[in-house]
Amino acid sequence: MTNAVIRFEGVEKTYPSRAGTAAVPALTDVNLTVPEAAIVGVIGRSGAGKSTLIRLVNGLEAPTSGRVVVDGTDITALSEPGLREARRSIGMIFQHFNLLARRTAYQNVALPLEIAGVSAREIKARVEPLLDLVGLADKRDRYPAELSGGQKQRVGIARALATRPRVLLSDEATSALDPETTNQILALLRKVNAELKLTVLLITHEMAVIKAVADRVAVLDGGRIVEEGRTFELFARPQHPTTRSFISAITGANLPPHLADRIQAAPIPGGQAVLRIVFTGAHATDPVLSRVSRLLSIDLNIIQAQVDDIAGEPFGVIVVSLPGDAATLGAVTAAIERLGLATEVIGYVS
Ligand code: ADP
Repeated sequence: MTNAVIRFEGVEKTYPSRAGTAAVPALTDVNLTVPEAAIVGVIGRSGAGKSTLIRLVNGLEAPTSGRVVVDGTDITALSEPGLREARRSIGMIFQHFNLLARRTAYQNVALPLEIAGVSAREIKARVEPLLDLVGLADKRDRYPAELSGGQKQRVGIARALATRPRVLLSDEATSALDPETTNQILALLRKVNAELKLTVLLITHEMAVIKAVADRVAVLDGGRIVEEGRTFELFARPQHPTTRSFISAITGANLPPHLADRIQAAPIPGGQAVLRIVFTGAHATDPVLSRVSRLLSIDLNIIQAQVDDIAGEPFGVIVVSLPGDAATLGAVTAAIERLGLATEVIGYVS
């Protein structure tokens, strides 16, 4: 069992009522563990409680009840000086980078070290390798206004690493970036995670971010974690409707419009069932469909097929239609699941 670097234990957070408004329950019974050197993602829609959750880790918010333990220290029990000390081992990056406009890249990265009273010589010895690490050695004397979004976030990452934290918190760090730059920044996060054995907790509203970097993911909905597990498992076998809707946006479970318009939840006499089959790992290239169709003498019509990569593992989704009667459907799903693949009936069409 690996060490838990961040642990939420029975965390509740309710914002007090303001004049005339009811109290807002932002987090309810949150239990979550971030193992050492892992990248854990928390995904949720706007208002789900993501910012509240991440702000509890560096003590910017205090829970109403429960504990948040970081690196063995109960953050909720610390006084202000204790918190300042603890924050030195917790780096953070932000959606809008939060760089100081009047400081160069170098000076922005140096700032936390200046605040900590580190000597100019030691600062230089730390900042230069960090600028190298994030690929910005040639931009050290540029001001934020002279840098692209991706370059600004690189400065943000170097600054967050300056105090040699064990934990990096990422608050929607790629939400303001285009898809290509997003991928570059996510690759950099993976690199620093691997090279520095850094433990990363990130919050996002984009499943593509989770898919690209997170080892594990928690789905936050209305302040509760409704599902949590290995990213790959979650993609392969999503249980909660919220998880499914996040995933369907990117794994091809989005049906072609001509089908999406006609699909119904209940079986239609004489109609067809629409089945989603997830191929994972070793099975990804198995000719499962032809085997099943031959074995059972049933025609499976492929509606959509897509092969993808989730946290480095091959992952395929195929959507097929087949006769929608319970007997056929039962036989086909059983045969496919015996071969180790996951199935889900998406609905029925006439
Ligand atoms: P997210 O980051 O997922 O959008 P937040 O953590 O910001 O979610 O918000 C969760 C809930 O708590 C929302 O209903 C939000 O309106 C409420 N909330 C957040 N911050 C405050 C605050 N400082 N005072 C009162 N309510 C807040």
